[in-house]
Amino acid sequence: MTDFAQDSADDTAPLTGPQIAELDRRHLWHPYAPHPDPAGALPVAGAAGTRIRLADGRELVDGMSSWWAAVHGYNHPVLNRAARRQLDAMSHVMFGGLTHEPAVRLARRLAGMAPGDLSHVFLSDSGSVSVEVAVKMALQYWHSRGRPAKHRLLTWRGGYHGDTWQAMSLSDPDNSMHHLWAPLLPRHVFAGLPPAGFAAPVDRAYAEHLERTVAEHAGELAAVIVEPVVQGAGGMRFHQPAYLRILRELCDRHGVLLVFDEIATGFGRTGRMFAAEHAGVVPDIMCVGKALTGGYLTLAATLCTPRVAEGIASGEYPQLNHGPTYMANPLACAVAEASLGLLTDGDWAGRVAAIETALAGALAPTAKLPGVREVRTLGAIAVVEMDRPVDTARAARAARAEGVWLRPYREMIYAMPPYVSSPEDLAMIARALHAAAEAAGQH
Ligand SMILES: *Cc1c(COP(=O)(O)O)cnc(C)c1O
Repeated sequence: MTDFAQDSADDTAPLTGPQIAELDRRHLWHPYAPHPDPAGALPVAGAAGTRIRLADGRELVDGMSSWWAAVHGYNHPVLNRAARRQLDAMSHVMFGGLTHEPAVRLARRLAGMAPGDLSHVFLSDSGSVSVEVAVKMALQYWHSRGRPAKHRLLTWRGGYHGDTWQAMSLSDPDNSMHHLWAPLLPRHVFAGLPPAGFAAPVDRAYAEHLERTVAEHAGELAAVIVEPVVQGAGGMRFHQPAYLRILRELCDRHGVLLVFDEIATGFGRTGRMFAAEHAGVVPDIMCVGKALTGGYLTLAATLCTPRVAEGIASGEYPQLNHGPTYMANPLACAVAEASLGLLTDGDWAGRVAAIETALAGALAPTAKLPGVREVRTLGAIAVVEMDRPVDTARAARAARAEGVWLRPYREMIYAMPPYVSSPEDLAMIARALHAAAEAAGQH
């Protein structure tokens, strides 16, 4: 640390790429990484449209939408204008006892877009927190109804719901990054992994397994929670939407709430505005986040039906005791409103369908590479699943050599590009996925 005083002698001067990398290594944790991280992180100087500009001058086509979020691309004039206008009015006021136009506009829009009657909106600051709120809503609903024994949740394996405590406890217990804490986590009920394949026929044995598991635990179940159609960080698995109809029917029959975590799938990513629409199912509670602000600011929401909201309000403790300091942050709400406007005013469905067609077509040869278990696409998601965990640094380097930013994990080399990606961007992303799979399969 002896050189630190010297480093910070002029701490207003712009930092060079190597200085950023060095300070980063010295002070910052990165997601799911040791600190300091021997793999390091690439300094970024700016981003516009579908391009990320590195501090060393290289430009990469974005294949990740910054983890499902930046669906309109970076530095979008409409979102920039919304942020600036709100900044000049106020960037934040507390939401306890106060309200404002950005929040009510966003809530009205979300309620209008959401399936069915999900018209009551709890705004929070991240997807994980929106899951915590969903769990609290479900438990409190049954508490208010005089059924406090209904305090567990059921989910299926292979899921990912976030990194906070309840969210961890609902993510896959063996396969997830949270297995270290398994003995300390709340005990929920796990059903088997949903059978793979969006278009696969319904597996009757699995449907019966779901039925038995829900029936057996109904007396202690507050809710079933799943990611509809696509399980994201848990393994990028797709399943037949009919299982969601089966869950809806089982929940209705046994008096259990149904929660959909649409944090990754929401806002068009799977080809429908919400993945629930593939099944024509309306959950009682729905979590959204990630693409909600078009990748600009951190914001999430937990939506519920009048039945859930009124059930809680009619209880002995009518208040829902949750209230993040930055709840309904006006800047985030204003940008979210503008982002959802861009989505609904534009041809998102046509663009997402075009991404699916382009990537599915271009990746046909990738499926034949050695070490590739399966190539699958759905909406604006393309996954090259390898037959073993890959050297992710090497795979990402191979993608960068093709001019594309990818972030492979475990055995997954995958892309979920911004909806505004051009045919040239998509061709580059497909080449990068292929090159990364080739590099990963070579050992
Ligand atoms: C990313 C994600 C979360 C957690 O959201 P954060 O904003 O990272 O807390 C929860 N559920 C799903 C399905 C996700 O993809």
